[in-house]
Amino acid sequence: QSQEVSQARIDYHVALQALQEHGTRMVCTGKMHTDRICRFDYLCYSSEAEEFVFFHSNSSVMLPNLGSRRFQPALLDLSSVEDHNTQYFNFLELPAAALKFMPKPVFVPDITLILNRFNPDNLMHVFHDDLLPAYYTMKQYSDLDDEARLVFMEGWSEGPHFDLYRLLSSKQPLLKEQLKNFGKLMCFTKSYVGLSKMTTWYQYGFVQPQGPKANILVSGNEIRQFARALMDKMNITRVEEMEKEGGSAEDKKEKEKKDDYIVVFSRSTTRLILNEAEVIMALAQEFQMRVVTVSLEEQSFPSIVQVISGASMLVSMHGAQLITSLFLPRGAAVVELFPFAVNPEQYTPYKTLASLPGMDIHYISWRNTKEENTFTHPDRPWEQGGIAHLDKEEQDRIQASKEVPRHLCCRNPEWLFRIYQDTLVDIPSFLEVLKEGMKTRPSLKKAKVASTVHPGRVREPKCQTSVQTTNEAKLTVAWQIPWNLKFLKVREVKYEVWIQEQGENTYMPYILPQQNYTFSENIKPFTTYLVWVRCIFNKNLLGPFADVLTCRT
Ligand code: UDP
Repeated sequence: QSQEVSQARIDYHVALQALQEHGTRMVCTGKMHTDRICRFDYLCYSSEAEEFVFFHSNSSVMLPNLGSRRFQPALLDLSSVEDHNTQYFNFLELPAAALKFMPKPVFVPDITLILNRFNPDNLMHVFHDDLLPAYYTMKQYSDLDDEARLVFMEGWSEGPHFDLYRLLSSKQPLLKEQLKNFGKLMCFTKSYVGLSKMTTWYQYGFVQPQGPKANILVSGNEIRQFARALMDKMNITRVEEMEKEGGSAEDKKEKEKKDDYIVVFSRSTTRLILNEAEVIMALAQEFQMRVVTVSLEEQSFPSIVQVISGASMLVSMHGAQLITSLFLPRGAAVVELFPFAVNPEQYTPYKTLASLPGMDIHYISWRNTKEENTFTHPDRPWEQGGIAHLDKEEQDRIQASKEVPRHLCCRNPEWLFRIYQDTLVDIPSFLEVLKEGMKTRPSLKKAKVASTVHPGRVREPKCQTSVQTTNEAKLTVAWQIPWNLKFLKVREVKYEVWIQEQGENTYMPYILPQQNYTFSENIKPFTTYLVWVRCIFNKNLLGPFADVLTCRT
C-alpha cells in the first residue's frame, strides 16, 4: 500500500528529466573513508555491472571531490567494521548523456540506507556491526525514519536473523541479489550510504589482536535505548513496566524476590557445557533461585529476550549468544565461561559491553584450568577447530600448549582448536569464582546516585596576592559555584586548583572542598603564577577548567 502511494508521488518523466539534467548529487560527512557517510540524490545501480553509478551533468555535486584519491583505498566503508578491504564502497562515473543509450532506469522512491552487513550468521556481529550502527545512523538522519528502505550490499542471503533486521523499518530490507529484479538500471531518488561507527565497542583483531576499541564513544544509555526500542518492536512487555502496575512497595519487593531467576544460555552444537544439568543444580542451590535454560536452537529470539530481560544473572559459554546480555535489566550479572587454554582477558566483547558506563551489568568470567575436563575435536573441519590438516609437529605443539598466544583474526588454528572445545565445568571452582565475583558487585543504588551530569565551569575566578617578607608571599584564589550546581543534588562537590609558576612546566594540584583558599607554601614573592580551577562532582565527574588566571605576587 505505502509503496504504491509513494510510487504515485514520483512522476516518472519528471524523475528521468531531473536525472538527465542534474545528474547525481553527493554530499558527505567525514574526513576519511573510515568516518564517512554520504547522502545522494539519484545514485544509480547497474545490476549488470554490479556497480553503483554516478551520473555527471552540469549541476552534479561530488563533495568531497577526491579525484582519484577516491580509490585510495575507497570512498567509504560500507560496514561498521573499520577499514576492512572487503567492505569498501565506490561508484563508477558516467556522463548523464550516456543515459540515452542505457536501459530505462527504475526509480526507487523510498529514502534508502545502503550498507553491508558484516557477518549476518553470527548474532554478536548482527547486533554489534549492523543493528546498532544502522539504528543510530537512522537516528542521525531524520529522513531515515520508519518508512526507510534498507539495502544490504554484502551479497549474502537473508541469514538466520533476518527478522531482527526487519525491525529497523516497516519496509522489507532488500538484498543485493534482489536488485536485479528492478531491472538493469535502478536509481535511488534519495539515499544514504555507509554506517555510523559511533556505537561499536570492539575490534575483531584484523590488524592487532582483538580487544575493546581504542576510543569507545557509546555508553550504556544508548545501548539500553536501542534495546528498549527493539523490545517494543518485538512486543515484549518489560519487567519494569509490569512492576509499575500496582501493589505496595513491600509487595513489589517480595514479588521481585520470588521472581528472581538465573538464565543459562546453552549452545547445543559446539563449545558445549558437558555437565549443564550439574551447573544448573549448583546455581539453583547456591543462589536459591529458579534456573531457566534458553538456546537459539530451541526458542524464538523474542521469547529468549523476554526471559533475559527479567533475569538476575545470565550464565553462558563464551560465544555470540552472549550479546543478548544487552537485554538484561540493570543490576544483573553476566557470567561468561571460557574453555581450557583460552584467556578471558584477551576475548572481551561481552565484558566490554557489560562494563560500558551506565550499562550497570556486573561481569564475571570463569575459565577451565583443568585439562582433564576439556574435550577437544582435532578431527573436525578447520573452521570448527580441527587441526588434522596441520603438520604433525604443529599438531603436537598445539596439543601441548596451555594457553593460546595472542593472535590475529580469524583463522588461527590454535585459537579455533581451543575455542571449540567442550567443557566439563568444575563445580567447586565455578562456585568459588561466582561467590568471589558477587562480593564485589556494586549496588545499583550507588550506580543510580552517581549521576552523569558534569559540572559547568566555576564562575568569576579571582586571585589576590600579598607579599609578607622577602621570601614569603600569599596567593588567595576564590570562585563561584558552576551555574548548573544550583539545580542539582550532588553527593560531593570538590574543586581542583592547579598552580603553575610561569615558565615552569610542572604544576601543583590541590583538591579543595570550599570556594576559596589562601596558598602560602611554595608561593614566592614577585613571581607570576598561572592558576586553573575546575569543579568535580562525586570524585570522578570532572568539569572544564575556567579561563586561566594570571596572578603576580
Ligand atoms: N550457535 C548456537 N549454538 C551452538 C553454536 C553456535 O546457537 O551450539 C550460534 C552462535 O550463537 C552464533 C552462531 O551460531 O550466533 C555462530 O557460532 P560460532 O561458534 O561460529 O561463533 P561464536 O559464538 O564463537 O561467535
